[in-house]
Amino acid sequence: MNAPENSNAALAARDLKHVWHPCTQMHDHESIPMLPIVRGEGAWLIDAEGRRYLDGISSWWVNLFGHANPRIAAALAKQARTLEHVIFAGFTHEPAIRLAEELVRITPPGLERVFYADNGSSAIEVALKMSFHYWLNLGHGEKTRFIALTGSYHGETLGALSVSDVALYRKTYAPLLLTPLLAPSPDSYDGEPGESPQQTAARRLQQLRSLLERHAHETCAVIVEPLVQCAGGMRMYHPDYLTGLRALCDEFAVHFIADEIAVGFGRTGTLFACEQGGVSPDFMCLSKGLTGGFLPLSAVLTTDEVYAAFYAEYNAGKAFLHSHSYTGNPLACRVALETLAIFRDEPVLERNRQLAAHLSRRLEPLRDHPHVADVRQTGLIAAIELVADKASRQPFPAAERRGLRVYLHGLQHGVLLRPLGNVVYFMPPYVVTRDEIDLLVDRAVRGIENAVAN
Ligand SMILES: *Cc1c(COP(=O)(O)O)cnc(C)c1O
Repeated sequence: MNAPENSNAALAARDLKHVWHPCTQMHDHESIPMLPIVRGEGAWLIDAEGRRYLDGISSWWVNLFGHANPRIAAALAKQARTLEHVIFAGFTHEPAIRLAEELVRITPPGLERVFYADNGSSAIEVALKMSFHYWLNLGHGEKTRFIALTGSYHGETLGALSVSDVALYRKTYAPLLLTPLLAPSPDSYDGEPGESPQQTAARRLQQLRSLLERHAHETCAVIVEPLVQCAGGMRMYHPDYLTGLRALCDEFAVHFIADEIAVGFGRTGTLFACEQGGVSPDFMCLSKGLTGGFLPLSAVLTTDEVYAAFYAEYNAGKAFLHSHSYTGNPLACRVALETLAIFRDEPVLERNRQLAAHLSRRLEPLRDHPHVADVRQTGLIAAIELVADKASRQPFPAAERRGLRVYLHGLQHGVLLRPLGNVVYFMPPYVVTRDEIDLLVDRAVRGIENAVAN
């Protein structure tokens, strides 16, 4: 037995004395246990008392190749003994150079310049500021607004939150935020009855066109999460929307910002989701899986054309003077390089396609469930929409916290699933096995039965 001071309860009590956790009403922990994790191994997390939890959500969508992945850990240890950090203005280092070369090589054509930041929200801030500043440098200071999609999520810092449309996170801070122009999401679940996802995308593009006709002159960029609006409830849409969006952005002279922070690095079936629309954005934001879930790092890729608009004699005052202390951190860059090396050395996308097909087969029976309105999937993201009434798609009231019951049931039975409201979803690490997928689905089904009862 563990010594009592190392028990789950003892660690949780110490935690709750001082630590304030993200995205949490801390009062919940009067009834919900805080779980101290001491170790990770592949797709599994292990708590202070040796209990194991299958990580069905890649620890908030960051982990690709398993916890404590030995190959990535070794690369990190070696880098830590060589160079842990150096100021990134005026100085550079090989991990950052090689990572930029590699990112340019693997992302869609035309993205030639890499600006580093240290988390997803910061990457969004960089893209928004760069887009605005590009137009300003070209003499178009009247372009000050952004178009975002309804149901979008781009992060929690004030700029990123400004272009997000998830009320739970945004509403409270609305008085502090920029006001984006909202274009209706091409979300297929929200389509008209009888409409195909492709038709929904086409109709939503028409609505975006009319918004641009009125507002392009004051608009810097359209920002989207390609293919899957993740935090907004894993809402999915047809890739035609991306193709059409690229054409509209060109026609109306506004930038296209692709936030691939959650969907990048193989999650949707292709290395980047934009590939499925056959498009290159003007800005691509990457983070989360970039380091395989080891360290915070993000990158904003953009074009030579954008770069050139900032390139001038110092006194022209056109430089992009944004920075973060840990910009281009060598440890994070080295770990990202090792993550990308795994994509090169192993048939990751092929294996993901097989896992996705297996997951899809296992979820099929849920379509008939009386409280399931939709089962949707894009690559290794699958989501189940729970409703109070199937015919009318009437949602369960948020206050009933049905998703929380699925979460608690999962933890009692060794799986980590963390529904977004009434949406139960799966986003497992790529090292998950078929048997582990079976376990996740079985636990989810039982959790759902529990959650919809009474
Ligand atoms: C998570 C996320 C962000 C924010 O990234 P953080 O590292 O949490 O700041 C931005 N955009 C999308 C699509 C995300 O999923």
